[in-house]
Amino acid sequence: MPLLRQLEFAFRSTGILSAVGTDSSRGEPVGPPGVSPGEFGACPASKMPASPTAETAVLLQNARELLRSLGAAHIAGELHVEWNSRLKTAAGRADCRQKLISLNPQLVEHPTEIDRTLRHELAHILAQFRAGRRRIPPHGVEWRQACVDLGIADEKRCHNLPFPARTYAARFVYRCPNCRHEFPRVRRVRRAVACLACCRKHNGGEFDLRFRLRLLTSIGLRPPMK
Ligand SMILES: [Zn+2]
Ligand SMILES: [Zn+2]
Repeated sequence: MPLLRQLEFAFRSTGILSAVGTDSSRGEPVGPPGVSPGEFGACPASKMPASPTAETAVLLQNARELLRSLGAAHIAGELHVEWNSRLKTAAGRADCRQKLISLNPQLVEHPTEIDRTLRHELAHILAQFRAGRRRIPPHGVEWRQACVDLGIADEKRCHNLPFPARTYAARFVYRCPNCRHEFPRVRRVRRAVACLACCRKHNGGEFDLRFRLRLLTSIGLRPPMK
């Protein structure tokens, strides 16, 4: 795997930056595998669980037991669970490389959803573990099977919790030099990201510099520094 791809993580916890294969065929910019985008909605989380440490410990224990019961004891010990108030539009996020599940503290107001969210994210990690180095779509058949095994067969890829989503104006517009598709972004994209559709079409879904997105405009800002 190219160093570039090992170093770079991309996810769209905020819906702002994007990368790592999405479910849409149109495609967001593609980045390296390893981090599953949390499709879950969220918001500025101000409240932490009353007892985050204890809560996290219980969640972690549950998650580890689930992994062990499914033949994934190998990664159970590496698993970590955290509450992360930086999650903005996601209820949860799974970092398959770090074996880290992040949960939005706002879930505390929807206690019955905590376990489901944990399993949803755990399914990402389990699916990637089973797939090994093979790249898998975030919510594809592998994830679906993991959901079945984790007891949430009817899980959807997105939740419908009433998390108020903040809206941002896109100030940066990137364009694929090949298909000319435009990708509006709120923030400057500092990683190397490429057009997923073109990478899929012409390079087997692997990152390809030929389709690296280029900054087209930065609205209301000075021209970008090179
Ligand atoms: Zn998901
Ligand atoms: Zn393209």
